[in-house]
Amino acid sequence: MMTLTGTLTRVISGLCLLASFLAGCGAAPDIAIPATLPTEPIQPSPTFLATRAPVTTHTPSLAAPPLDAGTPNPTFLPLPQYTLTSTLDYAAHQLVTAEQIVYTNRTGEKLDELALMIPPLDFPGVFTLQQMAWEDGNPVEGSSLQGSRMKVPLRAPLPPGEAVELHISYELQIPSPTPSAEVRPIPFGYTARQTNLVDWYPFVAPYVPGEGWLAHQPGYFGEHLVYEDSDFQVNLRLLGDLPVMTVAASAPETKDGEWHRYTHPAARNFAWAVSPQYQVAETSVGNTKVLSYFFPYHQSAGEAALQTTADALALYNEKFGEYRHPALSVVEADFLDGMEYDGLYFLSNGFYNLYQGTPGEYLVTIAAHETAHQWFYGAVGNDQALEPWLDEALCTYAERLYFENLHPEALDWWWGYRVQYYQPSGWVDSTIYNAQGYRAYRDAVYLNGAMFLEELRTLMGDNAFFTFLRSYASEKNSQIATREDFFTQVDQFTSADTSTLLKKYFSNP
Ligand SMILES: [Zn+2]
Repeated sequence: MMTLTGTLTRVISGLCLLASFLAGCGAAPDIAIPATLPTEPIQPSPTFLATRAPVTTHTPSLAAPPLDAGTPNPTFLPLPQYTLTSTLDYAAHQLVTAEQIVYTNRTGEKLDELALMIPPLDFPGVFTLQQMAWEDGNPVEGSSLQGSRMKVPLRAPLPPGEAVELHISYELQIPSPTPSAEVRPIPFGYTARQTNLVDWYPFVAPYVPGEGWLAHQPGYFGEHLVYEDSDFQVNLRLLGDLPVMTVAASAPETKDGEWHRYTHPAARNFAWAVSPQYQVAETSVGNTKVLSYFFPYHQSAGEAALQTTADALALYNEKFGEYRHPALSVVEADFLDGMEYDGLYFLSNGFYNLYQGTPGEYLVTIAAHETAHQWFYGAVGNDQALEPWLDEALCTYAERLYFENLHPEALDWWWGYRVQYYQPSGWVDSTIYNAQGYRAYRDAVYLNGAMFLEELRTLMGDNAFFTFLRSYASEKNSQIATREDFFTQVDQFTSADTSTLLKKYFSNP
């Protein structure tokens, strides 16, 4: 206990660095400094196409309605296909990309338009569109932008089962992130020692039959993008006279001369990072390769990130079902949180700086959290903007499972300093547009979310609870789950009355 307390003191002073910023995925602790927030509230996705209504008394299932005879079954239709061929001028911070999207209509409805998400447009002066054309080379006409969302009218309605092909050439002038209380930390951009590319290409938003596109606008905190499982083929090349560069990516690399080539099937997205400084440590869990990329003076923290990721992956394989990709990478990054992508996640250098070599630390906690996102966010998708608890509460609770099973000596530390210290309150089913601020959002969705799951587990009993979790992960694998899916699964494995629990934790019980 003394050791953990001593660690906490050092962590508290160090985390002031992390604390003064709005946190994203791992929702890093804000121990000393309350986050200051812009006061103007954001309305959730008000008018863009037919985006789902943000507040409903009944959350509809995203499962497709029954298909008419003759409508192609989406199960047998190809996922959206992305081919990205990019050249990075590392020194000039420029990325030139030719992108091809083959989008097969799996919605069961006739589509008149596509909703294209272009996340780099959220950063001023970063994205330049050079050309956007159809398969036959004719330019796309009549598109309109709303923030970083583009409505692309189709030349002819696209019937279910048919495909359309888009060719997009664009350039990114990669930004250098300046931490501020008004910008949520995202590991997109370059610093003196690395370049991180996340949400770096246009992609088609998921479409919910009967409702429309899940195309939300950004909030001040939390993540707003919703991803459909897609197939990625990525070809990367670095320009210029460079020292030896290491590329970390969402998928294993095949080297082909100057090209780094990647295939990443059935994934939510593809992220990568480049640095001349990365050291790499590697291990494996069954057939899964686990890699840790870290800066040279963080050897022991980099190895701890590797070991935590590997141990958590083995545990979650057992609890939630087998990890679905051949590799998982943890990448040290110059930003102020942890952030998950499919097959790769970033961890703040702050956690590495503070690492003391004990189990009860934020590096370990957030690594266990981000690893869990490979199941809840990756394998099982969700609407991160309107139902963030579906991934964040589960991943925070997965931290508890990590400590309970692998480092029970630090479990009390985890409850005490990760959760109870904040005396969390607030509705677990809050959205990222919650205007109460970052701290309220994190306390409600992450921390109170973990409290809710602890009580649900107690109510159901361990056997039913873990059978439910595994069944939910398996049933919703490769899909976008909703709260209705979650509770339908709960009800399958317990006859216990959950209504009291729901009234306690949910604004919409
Ligand atoms: Zn998270």
